[in-house]
Amino acid sequence: MPGGVNSPVRAFKNVNGKPIFFKSAKGPILVDEDENQYIDFIGSWGPMILGHSNPIILEAIKAQLELGTSYGAPTSLENKLASIIKSQVPSMEKLRMVNSGTEATMSCIRLARGFTGKNKIIKFSGCYHGHVDSLLVKAGSGVSTFGLPDSPGVPKELAALTYSCPYNNIEALSDIINEIGDDLAAIIVEPIAGNMGFIPGEPQFLNSLREFCDKHGSLLIFDEVMSGFRVGLGGAQAIYKIQPDLTALGKVIGGGLPVGAFGGKQSVMDQLAPLGPIYQAGTLSGNPLAMSAGIALIETLIQTNPFDELEKASSEIMTYAKNLLNEKGIPFSTSSIGGMFGFFFAEDLPKNFEDVVKSSDKIFKKFFYAALDRGIYFAPSKYEAGFISSTHDRSILDLTKNKIEKAIKEL
Ligand SMILES: *Cc1c(COP(=O)(O)O)cnc(C)c1O
Repeated sequence: MPGGVNSPVRAFKNVNGKPIFFKSAKGPILVDEDENQYIDFIGSWGPMILGHSNPIILEAIKAQLELGTSYGAPTSLENKLASIIKSQVPSMEKLRMVNSGTEATMSCIRLARGFTGKNKIIKFSGCYHGHVDSLLVKAGSGVSTFGLPDSPGVPKELAALTYSCPYNNIEALSDIINEIGDDLAAIIVEPIAGNMGFIPGEPQFLNSLREFCDKHGSLLIFDEVMSGFRVGLGGAQAIYKIQPDLTALGKVIGGGLPVGAFGGKQSVMDQLAPLGPIYQAGTLSGNPLAMSAGIALIETLIQTNPFDELEKASSEIMTYAKNLLNEKGIPFSTSSIGGMFGFFFAEDLPKNFEDVVKSSDKIFKKFFYAALDRGIYFAPSKYEAGFISSTHDRSILDLTKNKIEKAIKEL
């Protein structure tokens, strides 16, 4: 496999290291092939919000396993997961299941273009929306990690239809919209960004996106593949009280199995085949095993609503680190929302990708390895977010603080 991995960030290239191979995981703990244990702050990039090998999710998968793994035909499980998602994210009046976040955003873009009859798209530098051709322009984490501004293989004619704008910058956006004129199909955004480190959108900025789209007859797409059911039950759109036209989901909603979903206004969604002319399909979409895992996870999230607790937990650890680092004169900033958090070796919290680039790479790498050597598994790049789970209990938090203190002493 190129780089030894099936997804680039796993290769540890940004921290000049080698990938770790894991063989099992339970609760907050990952175990590698050499039996080393790590306290996990990646959580499979989101889905493990209830910890690894959650018994309720495993039971649901086992029960479905006995009934068959795929039928290539509708099941009531799809309806059930769709209803549960819709109950929490009401802007998704109709939705469709796919197999990854990339598929979800790709389908949103096609739908937005087909529905509006327009071609151009605005995205924000540092926001990652999957490895879709049209969206692989200034695309944050994986791409930034490797210093590729764009990927070879994306035709420049196609990339030319995608305009990139700095995040949280209304003036720059307004200029680009004026330049595009009336050919703007959609604005796509991570309302809470997790692929240039963790950077929440500013409320005024996100509200301006809604206004611009309304004014220009363009669709607003919220990519909540990472933030959906991670920052809170209704995702970022519930926190900011903004209704996008389309939403992309992934990661958490599959309970650790490969799932994505996209949905939104009924009038837009009904343009999809077979009701409408816009084509989109998937052999394994709505896979019953994946649906059963997703249903078990989201139902448990609704019952337990762990988001305040999760936010307190990551913020406790990060504030502890911040105090120790500041005592040593090392600049550090951090923030948390629900089950996501971020930290930067910079005095002030970054507001956009350019700010993140300026935060210290050198200290990040040192801190990353000092923590990893003590069994703390943070994301191996300053361009990634942090994730915590409901199984990070008091004893795990105390242990983490203890290890972080030792790691910081070494810096
Ligand atoms: C992970 C991610 C994607 C892509 O999802 P995949 O399942 O990796 O294809 C898209 N958008 C955002 C915001 C993501 O974090």
